[in-house]
Amino acid sequence: MCSSRAASDVPGTHGRADRPDPPGCAGGSDEDRRMTRTDGRCPCGGGDYATCCRPFHEGAPAPTAEALMRSRYSAFALGLGPHLRDTWSTATRPADLDLDDGLEWRRLQIVDTVRGGADDDEGVVEFRAAHRSAEGAGVLHERSRFAREDGRWVYVDGDLLA
Ligand SMILES: [Zn+2]
Repeated sequence: MCSSRAASDVPGTHGRADRPDPPGCAGGSDEDRRMTRTDGRCPCGGGDYATCCRPFHEGAPAPTAEALMRSRYSAFALGLGPHLRDTWSTATRPADLDLDDGLEWRRLQIVDTVRGGADDDEGVVEFRAAHRSAEGAGVLHERSRFAREDGRWVYVDGDLLA
């Protein structure tokens, strides 16, 4: 489905060069992962990693629950255990965080957000996260609860959805 992209990248086709990939091209092809790792795009799909989730991975506070959700997804994708631990509520944080190296996180889709803004103290983010492993492809669909601890957003817990 994505093989037509090269044809539309011809220089001089004004107005088309910056066009984002057609929605149908996201996920499914091996190109996605390679591009994520090599061209600086954030795993969460929010743009350049340097200006998207990286500041949060380096300790900046996420302004919204959705921003924290994204940074945690990217941390899963990049294997950043410390960020996941630091952004987990002290009440629900697992004693031992075991990242599954065999799981490749391929795409994040935010389905719904409730509150979780700059002026809120709690929020809900529903997301679908596509992954792939030796067992095949799957989707984690979760409605997650977030709250503020010491002014910073943290992940509390979530309900898995079908
Ligand atoms: Zn990001």
